[in-house]
Amino acid sequence: MINLSSIDIIEYLDTVGIQYTMHGKNVSQNWIGIQCPFCDDKSNHLGINIKSKAFSCFKCGTKGNIIKLVQELEHINWIQALNNLQQFSKTVIQFNEKITAVSNSFPKMNKLGKVHKEYLSNRGLDPDFMEKKYALKSGANFTKYQTRLIIPFFEKKRMISFTSRDVSNSIEPKYLHPSRDEVILVPKDLIFNIDSVKNSCIVTEGCFDVFKIGDGAVALSGTKYTQRQVSLLSNIERVFILFDPEPMAQKQAGRLCKELSFLTHSEVILLDIDRDPGDMTASEVKELRKELGL
Ligand SMILES: [Zn+2]
Repeated sequence: MINLSSIDIIEYLDTVGIQYTMHGKNVSQNWIGIQCPFCDDKSNHLGINIKSKAFSCFKCGTKGNIIKLVQELEHINWIQALNNLQQFSKTVIQFNEKITAVSNSFPKMNKLGKVHKEYLSNRGLDPDFMEKKYALKSGANFTKYQTRLIIPFFEKKRMISFTSRDVSNSIEPKYLHPSRDEVILVPKDLIFNIDSVKNSCIVTEGCFDVFKIGDGAVALSGTKYTQRQVSLLSNIERVFILFDPEPMAQKQAGRLCKELSFLTHSEVILLDIDRDPGDMTASEVKELRKELGL
């Protein structure tokens, strides 16, 4: 079941080509106005609340939730409307207000700078969207993470750990993880993006594979796995393992799959294309997600 408030209503309206307005005489703040499909409205009397996604027509008085509205707009049934909306459901993970003892020991972090955003762009990602969705930061000066892109790891919406990526492509190691002195759980104890999983997940090697695939994709920080990672994955109904195509990675994928097969449904998947998951195009990602029912 999707959380209606997580639906990106603007993306939905843009995709289906419905005209809307966020300003104007019939539209209040935090509402989007469209032409009401329930009456002979000509000028955006139907308001959709950006947060709750409830709608209400100020002309004919029809009210309801977004599913009812989509049914009417697209002349489809409730199930079809729900399915259509599913792909516009976005979970934006936020830092928890209650910062735990674990995270008190984190190094100082800053907002993303120009170099970090350029790096993300060059890897085919939308920097502003990524920054918000994954709470990306940059390492502060005078820490060992300075100039690096900091990628937080969340579990149950709490930031538990992080990794950092060099964005200049000139400093080794590419990924610098915190040590056990700095954090209680290191990235290898955690599964990146686990909070985004519903029933199925795609297990990848790294955060950038996840960034490409989106919600439901997770990463192990390498091809090796720990028992804590196996135990976290065993709680998921269907686990699809998508590692890079090279033989060593595939061997590890097979091993993980076998171990998980005693605990849950697990499958190794391979892309038709001979490329790493992180190099997939947007349409390849879309097709994969569809195929796996993500
Ligand atoms: Zn109306």
